[in-house]
Amino acid sequence: MAECVFCAIVSGDVPADVVHKSERTVAFRDVNAQAPTHVLVVPRRHEPDLAALSAAAPEDVAAIGTAVADIAAAEGLGEGYRVVFNTGAGAGQTVFHCHAHLLGGRRLEWPPG
Ligand code: 5GP
Ligand code: ZN
Repeated sequence: MAECVFCAIVSGDVPADVVHKSERTVAFRDVNAQAPTHVLVVPRRHEPDLAALSAAAPEDVAAIGTAVADIAAAEGLGEGYRVVFNTGAGAGQTVFHCHAHLLGGRRLEWPPG
């Protein structure tokens, strides 16, 4: 999709610190990290949010889960980690290409802000 920064990262047109790739996903470190590990896992397919991705390509949702597990293991997050899909502007979504935030490496409070 034109002018989508995550599509541009998936295609390699915009550089990113890529930590994991699969047939269906690409994962890279967030430029504005909120935890020692803050990785974004995105489907290669452009869909605006989790609901749209689930409807269009449920296998991509499973692939995000598998990527999260692989990255969490590689990053040594055995103590625990958090996976967040901000959905909609009211929840803080700013990039409308579905993505999972994988956060870990520090104590994570609940409820989130
Ligand atoms: P959202 O607010 O939509 O849930 O999350 C978007 C995330 O993407 C933000 O945490 C933001 O820091 C990150 N981000 C936005 N543009 C870029 C970029 O060009 N490269 C990387 N690595 N992260 C980005
Ligand atoms: Zn996109």
